[in-house]
Amino acid sequence: MISNKMAALAQNNSVIRAMFEEGNRLAAQFGRENVFDFSLGNPNFPPPEAVKSAIRDVLDDTSPVDIHGYMSNAGFPAVREAVAHSINRRHGTSFSSGNIIMSVGAAGALNSVLKTLLNPGDEVAAFAPYFVEYGNYVANYDGALKVAPPNIPTFQPSAESLETVITAKTRAVIINTPNNPTGVIYSEESLRAIARVLTKKSKEFGAPIYLISDEPYRELAYDGVCVPYVTKLYPDTFVCYSWSKSLSLPGERIGYIVIPSELEDFSLIFDAVSIATRVLGFVNAPSLIQLAVARCLEAQTDICAYDQNRRALYDGLTSLGFECVFPQGAFYMWVKAPGGDDKAFVAAAKDENILFVPGTSFACPGYARIAYCVAKSTIERSMPGFKKIAAKLGVSK
Ligand code: PLP
Repeated sequence: MISNKMAALAQNNSVIRAMFEEGNRLAAQFGRENVFDFSLGNPNFPPPEAVKSAIRDVLDDTSPVDIHGYMSNAGFPAVREAVAHSINRRHGTSFSSGNIIMSVGAAGALNSVLKTLLNPGDEVAAFAPYFVEYGNYVANYDGALKVAPPNIPTFQPSAESLETVITAKTRAVIINTPNNPTGVIYSEESLRAIARVLTKKSKEFGAPIYLISDEPYRELAYDGVCVPYVTKLYPDTFVCYSWSKSLSLPGERIGYIVIPSELEDFSLIFDAVSIATRVLGFVNAPSLIQLAVARCLEAQTDICAYDQNRRALYDGLTSLGFECVFPQGAFYMWVKAPGGDDKAFVAAAKDENILFVPGTSFACPGYARIAYCVAKSTIERSMPGFKKIAAKLGVSK
């Protein structure tokens, strides 16, 4: 027997993961080169060389006992200091190691923060469309996710709609910018408007409503568009950062949490998040990769390659008549489903061995997400299939 919670989860297993499995099944049937899998945000580009050298150097010049042993739950102090320094240099902040907790990716970071904040029945708000796992993460601590409706067509978060979902039970609001699935970067104006609502509501209810800024795509911004640093606009913020996408390291499970000193009861909260990391069973972020990323904090994935994909996919789809949001960041194309039926769009695509995810999975029906963190040739070779989908669904130029 399994728990009721897990039974429900097992029954509604993630559509994205299911797509990924379907891709493997189709690949076995038709050959990998004949399947165009745009379902998962798994970077197709290798980590920068600097990561490989850093791993080698750590192994060569550090005592194995120090590399592989237990450490404080928050992570290696020297790594946290290096991370704080790098954030300060790039964003003009003034953090120290005492504001940083190393995490098991953004997912681990989000879970440590939510475990720290939520009592059963507490609420967390998010803006549609949102990363589908937020609902599961909040449910892990018996909280409830409240969703502000999508702001079509810009997909900037709307402070007005946020206000309608905030109640006396709201403990936090999760934002994600650059955004999965839309590729939109939240503007400073939008973030300031959110900060105003949260300041007002925190006062009204007599307790802070925190922002949780989920930032796996922070470094993936195109055309020099600025990704505002959220703690500067609203100090009651937890930043949940990850190197999964910025250094193509999703399997390594490495990221960090920033907790600003301005938080009321800062020390208590910092200790509680460290303890949450321990009692969730992570204990600490993986040690070798902590030491390695600290040595390549300036390294970057090949953003030019993603940019080429972005343009190839956008140009290809729009020339066939599809309506897309031109992504400012991340590596997802958010496409309007012809006729408004995202499930029919996904089904028509599957007939052409093209896989992507319906917007319904992100609480935004009528759209679909195409992950373009794939080889450029996959995009190019998928275009005849998209042409057939356009014909089938009556899309015209
Ligand atoms: N948040 C968002 C918006 C994501 O897209 C992802 C992964 O795709 C995560 C969090 C989880 O990232 P990580 O691999 O760092 O746990």
